[in-house]
Amino acid sequence: MPTVLITGASRGIGLEFCRQYLDDGWRVVATGRDPKNSKGLTALRGDLLVQALDVGNHEAVDALAASLRRESIDVLINNAGVYGPRSSALRNLDYAGWGEVFRINSMAALKVSEAFLDHVARSGQKRIAALTSKMGSMADNRSGGSYVYRSSKAALNAVMKSLSVDLAPRGILVGILHPGWVRTDMGGPGALIDADVSVAGMRKVIAGLTPETSGAFLNYDGSPIPW
Ligand code: NDP
Repeated sequence: MPTVLITGASRGIGLEFCRQYLDDGWRVVATGRDPKNSKGLTALRGDLLVQALDVGNHEAVDALAASLRRESIDVLINNAGVYGPRSSALRNLDYAGWGEVFRINSMAALKVSEAFLDHVARSGQKRIAALTSKMGSMADNRSGGSYVYRSSKAALNAVMKSLSVDLAPRGILVGILHPGWVRTDMGGPGALIDADVSVAGMRKVIAGLTPETSGAFLNYDGSPIPW
């Protein structure tokens, strides 16, 4: 069976990815900052390898990639993300906090993808996905504000688009996915959909990626989102 590696798997959308791929019989490498204390991960059963990983720690990313050098990773899902300081309004910006959000939301997905490139390249399915947000869309921004989160996801989009171009010759497909507005700790209770619906949709989109849709900005239902 194929193997998927998921970052930020301790809760929310990442945990749901683990659950669904395990249910389908995949081998799942679930990574999280403190996975032993994730009740959700501890309850999962199946072909599961749980590993500690803070995606902002580049040495730890390289060490995990080295320790998993015998694994092929069919699908690498860069899911870990933070909203950052909630006070992100004009004249009340936390610039230090902004840098930290960039480190996690914009830079870590590239670092993890680089570290696991060979694992993905030797797999059968050769797919890398990143969880972005429609809030990173310029065209969709009618409400302003959210400077930190919006800019971090817009930067992630630029990064993953370049990655899709650079990896095309190696046959690696890149999905840039908006999960919808999802009821998780980040999305809040008033969000529109549950994680199971979002993840079922994104799994289909990832499985259906083609050279034509690699590097496109896609909603969880597969529809395109304007940059
Ligand atoms: P949650 O806040 O519920 O979960 C975030 C996950 O990311 C947690 O597992 C958290 O781990 C992990 N994480 C945060 N920082 C790090 C780090 N440095 N290293 C490793 N893991 C880390 O968010 P969601 O599940 O809702 O979001 C998942 C992704 O989807 C994010 O990238 C988010 O931006 C994106 N998204 C979500 C939307 C929504 O409506 N929910 C909408 C649009 C995009 P820990 O438990 O250790 O904190």
